Amino acid sequence: AIQVAGVNKWYGAFQVLKGIDLTVNKGERIVICGPSGSGKSTLIRCMNRLEVHQEGSIIVNGVELTSQLKRIDRVRSDVGMVFQHFNLFPHLTVLENCTVAQRWVRKLAKKQAVEIAMTYLERVHIPEKADKYPGQLSGGQQQRVAIARALCMNPSIMLFDEPTSALDPEMVKEVLDTMISLAADGMTMVCVTHEMNFAREVASEVVFMDGGQIIERNTPDILFSAPTHERTKRFLGKLL
Ligand code: ATP
Ligand code: MG
Repeated sequence: AIQVAGVNKWYGAFQVLKGIDLTVNKGERIVICGPSGSGKSTLIRCMNRLEVHQEGSIIVNGVELTSQLKRIDRVRSDVGMVFQHFNLFPHLTVLENCTVAQRWVRKLAKKQAVEIAMTYLERVHIPEKADKYPGQLSGGQQQRVAIARALCMNPSIMLFDEPTSALDPEMVKEVLDTMISLAADGMTMVCVTHEMNFAREVASEVVFMDGGQIIERNTPDILFSAPTHERTKRFLGKLL
């Protein structure tokens, strides 16, 4: 579980997060939406300490993220992350992308790391690409490798930051289908996305952010059909 409480963050004089409270319990799937610049990426990146917050607390599976935290890699391997741009290592094959952290962070033997990697490449339906390089794959295939790579670390929570927004339309579905199947398996997920059909299908809660604040949150049914705040209405009006 992730507990975010009273989190404030500044970039210089600019306050990017303002009093964020958000709890993600085991098995929940939170979708975060909101206009560009509202702080969605910053918030999700604070959850595995790719960004540092200045006030408030973030507790991940019982461990508070602070500057004193010695084993941040342990938290990171427990929190998988998939970004908008695939961030695969271009000079490593698909299989190597999926085994490198297992070997160096989890300290697994090569044979075991390869077995695990192949299991997850099968899971995302591209085991046949194992020996290809990222540049030889389509965007949707690369994003599925990024998901498999994250799953190889056996995370208990997955964070997604607009994983489909850089993809051509015909590749969006294969990535969303992979995420839907993860959700169906009970994975705890936090997804920044504007894919409202995905949110309707899998979200336990949709959170709308604007100006560094959570403006409104509800189940997708209620938030999409009866948003309370003017800003939410205006934003959803453009999307739905
Ligand atoms: P988008 O939908 O465009 O991805 P977002 O909601 O994810 O937007 P963030 O990337 O979290 O927004 O950025 C929130 C605000 O913080 C923006 O105004 C952005 O310009 C600013 N910001 C982000 N990163 C930095 C940084 N490293 N230094 C200074 N300002 C930053
Ligand atoms: Mg963003």
